[in-house]
Amino acid sequence: LRAIPRCHSNPWSRASSTLQNPKDASAAHHRPALQAHHRQHDRDHDRHIGGRPDADDVVPYLAKQPLHPLSLADLVRHGRPPLSAEALLASARFTLSLLPIRLAHRIQALRNLPYIVVSNPNISKIYNNYQHSLSTLLPWQGRTISNLEDEIRFTEVLAELVQTHTDTIPILARGFLECRKYISPAEVTRFLDKHLRARIGTRLVAEQHIALHFSSTPHFDPAASPTPCPEHPSYIGAIDTALRPASTIDSCGGFVADICELNYGVRPQWIIDGEPDTTFAFVPMHLEYIITELLKNAFRATVENGMSREPIVITIAPEPPAVKTPQSHVRLDPPNESRGAFDRNAIAPLDDNAPGVTIRIRDRGHGISSDILDHIWSYSFTTFSESDDVPGAWSGADDALSVISASSNGASSIAGLGYGLPLSRAYAEYFGGGIAVQSLHGWGTDVYLRLKGVGRIEQETVASKKAKE
Ligand code: ADP
Ligand code: MG
Repeated sequence: LRAIPRCHSNPWSRASSTLQNPKDASAAHHRPALQAHHRQHDRDHDRHIGGRPDADDVVPYLAKQPLHPLSLADLVRHGRPPLSAEALLASARFTLSLLPIRLAHRIQALRNLPYIVVSNPNISKIYNNYQHSLSTLLPWQGRTISNLEDEIRFTEVLAELVQTHTDTIPILARGFLECRKYISPAEVTRFLDKHLRARIGTRLVAEQHIALHFSSTPHFDPAASPTPCPEHPSYIGAIDTALRPASTIDSCGGFVADICELNYGVRPQWIIDGEPDTTFAFVPMHLEYIITELLKNAFRATVENGMSREPIVITIAPEPPAVKTPQSHVRLDPPNESRGAFDRNAIAPLDDNAPGVTIRIRDRGHGISSDILDHIWSYSFTTFSESDDVPGAWSGADDALSVISASSNGASSIAGLGYGLPLSRAYAEYFGGGIAVQSLHGWGTDVYLRLKGVGRIEQETVASKKAKE
């Protein structure tokens, strides 16, 4: 996925090297002095609470604290960039209030796995990443992020956090494959589903602040930083309020077709019909992930069944706003997460009324037989590699689709691992959408991707701007 060329490239990918004080571009020159100042601040802070807090000690304590049920309003509550300094600081403080608890919940869940599973080198690498990230945030707790120098340093910590966890999915996948003798597929799916859904929210919280930071930087250097703000006024942090799915489909389709062409020597075609000019408010990275996975499946089935001459037909249908349900709140976290006390008044109610879009991907790749259909939503179920017992064989070099996993890195390397459908569904459901697969065995497959737009951003932003004035 990271290889997909985007007009809006990751504003956070090079965050730590390009951070600037939004109010003072010359702040970078004072960085060493600043850092010395903060090292002293850290030491004072640590002395005050009796030494640097140890991530180990605080996990049970933090993990007992309820998770803030992240809402869409949370992501846009600070307004449309460029943010004022006050709003940027508020965003940083809000981000800090959420992340340590979220990380601790994940660490606790990893600790609850059978010991032999956590001892696996891959799983323990992920465990250590979480412990490390928590330990980088703990020094910030009990301190107020009250000036823009603090905000820059905090954003650097966030950028490192996002970077640390980039490759989590293939590593976890390998770990659980190696442990498959010790843990049942149902247990793995239960753990992964909860873990990966929580991860979507945690990354989004961090990425949102990083993106807001960048798009609030007036003195940004376009050569050094791919900040979307000036040319992309439709962005609010990581959300594009005018995302055009047809454009995403074309860029992801080109990427997947390239892989097919390289490896099978054929380039499947696709057609977009329906209403290609539909736009809605959504997180582009999430849509790119889902579309890439669904197209990989459709292209693979089409090519492997010798149907490359039949184009994949993608129909885009805008969804009219649903019937309004008063008082409803769109909640991003899975409903089974513990809900606790939080300041309801701080969150503007969102209706479930945001316009959405349904995308149907129709291929002629002979469909899915009913015995396979029962398993397609399980993590690590795949018809790609049939070899069991040999840990590591999942990358099966001579298998046809290893082409797809081998030819790219990062998230797209999970092709052939059986994570595409369940993880895409987790992304779709995160904003209240869903995925349904309809197979006509012997003929082809229809995949319906329904996405709910992010609601009421404009009103939200206008309201918060008014409040600021
Ligand atoms: P992977 O692609 O890594 O195998 P997925 O979760 O994406 O994992 O898909 C799981 C399985 O579902 C695939 O291995 C394939 O057998 C089946 N499948 C998914 N989409 C299609 C499709 N469009 N046509 C035929 N089979 C499909
Ligand atoms: Mg797949």
